[in-house]
Amino acid sequence: MSIRVRFAPSPTGFLHIGGARTALFNWLYARHVGGHLILRIEDTDTARNTQAAVDVILHGLRWLGVNWDEGPLTSDATGPYKGDRGPYYQSQRQENYRLRVEALLARDMAYEHEGAVRFRMPREPIVVPDLIVGEVRRELTDREARDPDFVIVRSDGQPVFHLVNVIDDLEMGITHVIRGEDHLSNTPKHIALFRAFGVAPPVYAHIPLILNPDGSKMSKRDQGASLSTYLEEGYTPEAVVNYLCLLGWSPKDNREILPVREIIDRFDLSQILRHNARFDMAKLQWMNAEYMRAMNPDRFYELCVHALAKAGIDTNRFPLSYVKAALDTCHGKLKTFAELGGYAGFYFTDEISWDTEAAAKGFTAEGRDRLRRLRNAFGALPEFTALHLEACLKNLAGQLGVKVGALVHPARLACTGKTVGPSLYHLLEVLGRDKVFERVDRALAWNG
Ligand code: GLU
Repeated sequence: MSIRVRFAPSPTGFLHIGGARTALFNWLYARHVGGHLILRIEDTDTARNTQAAVDVILHGLRWLGVNWDEGPLTSDATGPYKGDRGPYYQSQRQENYRLRVEALLARDMAYEHEGAVRFRMPREPIVVPDLIVGEVRRELTDREARDPDFVIVRSDGQPVFHLVNVIDDLEMGITHVIRGEDHLSNTPKHIALFRAFGVAPPVYAHIPLILNPDGSKMSKRDQGASLSTYLEEGYTPEAVVNYLCLLGWSPKDNREILPVREIIDRFDLSQILRHNARFDMAKLQWMNAEYMRAMNPDRFYELCVHALAKAGIDTNRFPLSYVKAALDTCHGKLKTFAELGGYAGFYFTDEISWDTEAAAKGFTAEGRDRLRRLRNAFGALPEFTALHLEACLKNLAGQLGVKVGALVHPARLACTGKTVGPSLYHLLEVLGRDKVFERVDRALAWNG
């Protein structure tokens, strides 16, 4: 039997990283076993659902590289994902739900009550066999013991989550339900519904939650909770995928940087950890920096140009070789692409502006005197290359009896407007003699 899993988000306008991880685990499992992944939008709450809210999910999944395998051809010719398959929308399956409810009513497994339809829940407790959590047996509360039946169609005619979720899993042939542990308590109801429809329930695998560093439950408002943060802040999807995979799954050999191909090879549901995972932003940033460092130069370059454009910096105004050389000096220096505008913007501006406080500190009479001497020494160089510039600056520092930093700092400030950045000698070479002297001259003339 081929394995079929699904990701079934409700479109709330927000993709929680817990949801993103659920999608990822389903995808990894489908790819590992050569099964099918289905994307199903649970949009029965018509008041809240909009196409924009669905697009947030589709966009996030695409960014992560989570692709799904089937679904109706998208009919919206103007939509952003024209020509794609799927997803399935519950809002388009009302007829399926109606027929199933009729069947339950006809067999007296459901009954009408005050305009709603209620399901006859079995009176004995239902044991949930779960691949991750183990066997879960929940005793009925007193109220449930008295009246365990529950509404499956509201009096306004809307079928409820439990019902449509089960009908879809059944009709879509889902073999494994991999979802957040917050749904574990719903599962006895779902199992009872499967049985009522005369079908064996799927295998369940409930994934433990993602917690904040302090152990509290991660809510919508917590830092890093929304996947869009990572898109906006210039993370690389490979790093986010790698990090999310390690939140609740472990390859058991303490390796942390794992390319997704390898994760697919090694992923199995039985290795999902039982305890809740704690989100660690510093670790994700570290991982992102590692991925950026290891990235091949072409891809790094491409993502940089994109990030700069987003920061309002148009690199097209500059020769290609200049842009590439400039970005080369940034490779391995950044934690996220969002830092790039601040880090490398000086390469792509006609005039540096100095923060008054930083300039007052860096361009003192003494600082300017050193800068002037450095300019003279640079002026005598046969070649304006990092190697020559470095030797020249160090030589001058020796002559003046000052630390290298005493020359590096005002030179950096003069040419970049910053106190940190790429290697000074390399950035000077990239800027070139003319720009460097022009900027140094302006710094020398600085008077607050
Ligand atoms: N729509 C439900 C949610 O977003 C899906 C539950 C499930 O995966 O079964 O929580």
